[in-house]
Amino acid sequence: MFHGDETIAAISTAAGSAGVAIVRVSGDEAFEIADRVFSPFSGRLIDSTGFTTSEGIVRLDDPHLELPARVYVFKAPGSYTRQDVIELHIPGSPEIATAVLSAVIDSGARQADPGEFTARAFFSGRIDLSEAEAVADMIDAANDAQLRSAVASLGGQILRLCKRASGKLTECLASVEASIDLADEEITMDSAESLGETLIELSAWLKDVAARASTIPEKFSQAHVVLAGMPNVGKSSLVNAISGSDRAIISALAGTTRDVLSATVTLAGGSSFILQDAAGFDGSGASLAAAADAAAQLAVSRGDVVILVVDASADDFGPDQALCEQLRRTNRRAPLIVLANKLDLLSTRAIEELPGRLATIFGAKVLAVSATTGAGLDELRSELAELLDLSAQRSGEALGLHDRQKRCILAAGDASSQAGKLLADAPEVTDVAELVAVELREALAQLGAISGEVVTEDILGRIFARFCVGK
Ligand code: GDP
Repeated sequence: MFHGDETIAAISTAAGSAGVAIVRVSGDEAFEIADRVFSPFSGRLIDSTGFTTSEGIVRLDDPHLELPARVYVFKAPGSYTRQDVIELHIPGSPEIATAVLSAVIDSGARQADPGEFTARAFFSGRIDLSEAEAVADMIDAANDAQLRSAVASLGGQILRLCKRASGKLTECLASVEASIDLADEEITMDSAESLGETLIELSAWLKDVAARASTIPEKFSQAHVVLAGMPNVGKSSLVNAISGSDRAIISALAGTTRDVLSATVTLAGGSSFILQDAAGFDGSGASLAAAADAAAQLAVSRGDVVILVVDASADDFGPDQALCEQLRRTNRRAPLIVLANKLDLLSTRAIEELPGRLATIFGAKVLAVSATTGAGLDELRSELAELLDLSAQRSGEALGLHDRQKRCILAAGDASSQAGKLLADAPEVTDVAELVAVELREALAQLGAISGEVVTEDILGRIFARFCVGK
């Protein structure tokens, strides 16, 4: 898997039109291949040293085309993959990028597999496994906090953590081994008690790191904002008005009996969230819990923000109040706001009184809107941007770890505490040296699996399968 010296190539920019598209080539023959499709205005690519760029023309035979291009040359070993890397920066249409990639492949390169550039960076020792995973996290990041966490990992945060723990474990292992080898010498050794204390402290620190770290999902998901409310209060009209589409997109939630209407909403700052219409969660029937549709229940329970939509022109908010309680019980974690829709049906006086009156009834923040006229929707978007950013910042404070990485850290902590206990109960290090050494090597192997020093093909396969082609 991923081994081999073949020269590989792929389009490394996102699908779709953009200003510039990049075709990336990596391997021993990168220069020869690039020379066949690209003519620089001056000099020869092959003479490049280190990192250089040159302007020129890409010539294609089929379709017959001459394109202005800029080539970035990264000579081995100063490149991402530590191989010769050439990037052809060309006009960003998908058709052009595909035609240039075909020309590069016809000239001798092989189409890269998903994640193959990053796999080469890993196998060449340019990055460790936690950094390779962070590259995938960065590509998948759906908001600032996820991006910050990935950037921190890419900057070696996890690696430093592992090195700190491995350094301590290696020191202890050296002491333990020395106690066996030098048992007959007159040398002062660390006592079993002090080594034991160090290892138990290290174990507590590792467990604390794992406990405080947020879990990075295998695929980052976008934040979900869920609309719930009685029938006819205007939920689906609001989904369309907020998302700006005429047609709400139907998406199936896995494992449920009914689809939940949802649409992607992009906010002014560029972050996006999924807006869902939990229409089944409408409080009809005597038992609210029984009446609420399973899919809608699930959507509400998983929502990052829950919105109760009410009809601002209604006389009696009793049923809405009962529904509000039900929503709070279903999701205690997410903030709940009340959206008073159909503002256009109210007199000016009633509009002024409404937010205060409803805030008292529902004990929640109230925003007044009209799906029909669009009044109040900008305020709603800002409120949501704020609420989603806040929750993103909270999760962004902690170190982010994948489940696999957490499990390794916890196992290293267990082995370290096991070794610590053996030492604490022993009069001399030599009495338990062999057993302690086994535990310490296990702890080191677990930490090594995070950085990729000790890792199986199966784990590598799963990690690199997350990548898209070109990365
Ligand atoms: P849902 O059952 O909660 O999804 O409600 P709908 O979105 O289907 O809307 C129910 C009715 O209310 C429809 O006739 C809409 O045209 C109307 N409606 C929705 N929003 C507004 C609004 O802001 N103002 C007015 N006047 N009518 C609205």
